[in-house]
Amino acid sequence: MSEINPSVKMFEPYPVGDLVVYITGPERGSVIESDCRWELTTTLSSCDCCTFRWYSRRDPSYKCRHILALRQVLGLK
Ligand SMILES: [Zn+2]
Repeated sequence: MSEINPSVKMFEPYPVGDLVVYITGPERGSVIESDCRWELTTTLSSCDCCTFRWYSRRDPSYKCRHILALRQVLGLK
């Protein structure tokens, strides 16, 4: 876990583009679309969204924009 940005606080809103990311655990967060009240549970390698569920069947390493936003907030890129 040492690679994760130590200045990131839990449960603080971090805007990434049109998404807002809340960190809820060491490798997980809640991602909210700014135009939608839907809250997604996202980890470094999985996400609740339909896009991830669809594409990850063909590509197990697929990362949707919610995963990428979480990684960006955590400083993992
Ligand atoms: Zn997603």
